[in-house]
Amino acid sequence: MKLNIQLFAVPARHMSKTSSRMRRTHYKIEANATTKCPKCGADVRPHRVCENCGTYKGKTVINKEEATK
Ligand SMILES: [Zn+2]
Repeated sequence: MKLNIQLFAVPARHMSKTSSRMRRTHYKIEANATTKCPKCGADVRPHRVCENCGTYKGKTVINKEEATK
């Protein structure tokens, strides 16, 4: 005799709203990491060209004066 029964995965316990919410209290947004531009001192994301003065590691990569013309 063969039983034709489908089995489903069923959670052993229903997780309460409070329990889910307590876990999610640890989900937080972190502020972006920043460093100071060595030339102009503006807050810059690490390993990126400075958007304020267009330099990277003290070298001009984007000519800001020419670009704005
Ligand atoms: Zn800069």
